[in-house]
Amino acid sequence: MVRISKPKTFQAYLDDCHRRYSCAHCRAHLANHDDLISKSFQGSQGRAYLFNSVVNVGCGPAEERVLLTGLHAVADIHCENCKTTLGWKYKKKRRPRGARYLAYSHTTG
Ligand SMILES: [Zn+2]
Repeated sequence: MVRISKPKTFQAYLDDCHRRYSCAHCRAHLANHDDLISKSFQGSQGRAYLFNSVVNVGCGPAEERVLLTGLHAVADIHCENCKTTLGWKYKKKRRPRGARYLAYSHTTG
């Protein structure tokens, strides 16, 4: 179990606590609103959502990749239901604000 020690920054949105994020293609559930860390992260394909945990995703092989925030070990993640690529996952500790997963434009809320 990984303990997230930094304060969460999205508490202003928690009143909408039943909201879920899902695959834009097949609507499979991907994450709870509670697991959303940031909606304003910039990924290589535009704005990305940053999640603490996700479900229903598969993971490709890890690789070193230069992102806007520096060199990271990441692995692409895809929807396990329809295989749409959703974003990527950080493999090491150097990740923004304790986050583990990024999913970009193929995710809808
Ligand atoms: Zn899908």
